[in-house]
Amino acid sequence: MPVSHSVDQEPSGATNSTENEHQNQTDNDDDRPDDGLPINELFYSLQGEGTLAGVPSVFVRTSGCNLRCWFCDSYHTSWEPTHAWMSLDEILAEIESYDADHVVLTGGEPMLHDASADLLSELDDRGYHTTVETNGTIHRDAPIDLASISPKLESSTPTPERDPDGDGEWEQRHENARLDLDALTELVETHPFQLKFVVTDADDMPEILDLLSELRDAATVPIRDENVLLMPEGATRERLAETRTRTAELAMEHGFRYTPRLHVDLWNDAPET
Ligand code: SF4
Repeated sequence: MPVSHSVDQEPSGATNSTENEHQNQTDNDDDRPDDGLPINELFYSLQGEGTLAGVPSVFVRTSGCNLRCWFCDSYHTSWEPTHAWMSLDEILAEIESYDADHVVLTGGEPMLHDASADLLSELDDRGYHTTVETNGTIHRDAPIDLASISPKLESSTPTPERDPDGDGEWEQRHENARLDLDALTELVETHPFQLKFVVTDADDMPEILDLLSELRDAATVPIRDENVLLMPEGATRERLAETRTRTAELAMEHGFRYTPRLHVDLWNDAPET
């Protein structure tokens, strides 16, 4: 399928108080259908992370993200977005070609796109269980069975020393946009959810605890420790070997859940896993 590179969009119809901070690239793809999405990958695998780890699922990975985490494990949806435009009918037909009843809409940041809400409605009508993997900065009115929210911590910021693609040009934009308490609150109030934090080391814990405290004050629903998952940072087996034991110990120390990254354990950093 054709692959083009321009993709990041302003979200419209979405709740996001940092909307003006989003990247605003012109999207001039010739093959863009009216009702479509920029798809980086669409594949069948096991859910690797979170409370549904191990469940066979179809993954729909959209391209484009409003953030630029230095450790992004889907580089070709954020730092260097590539994709082919697919209509909703084409996406649904490909999903239905697999024998699965779980669909994971991921990215990039899938909630950037208007059509993600339409896709989720279509999947809901067909009886699929849907998980949305989101950075928690955008809320849309859409049927979601599990909002898998991964708020980005200060340790994700692409400082000049950590920038994989330059000299820290994204540092301030990322820092301004990475947390949105209003969007986070709306997400946890409107969907079953899990809060999944990528942990680099113990220095991340004060920020996690502070954010949880703010969210618990703001939200009208309970946020239980069992809803909070700590996930080791690392997109390769080698890196996970460095981070997972400490992350597991921190989960035990604080009474949170630990989540593995099964797809990395099984397939390392291979695409379409
Ligand atoms: S929010 Fe997710 S997709 Fe976007 S840059 Fe960060 S890790 Fe990558």
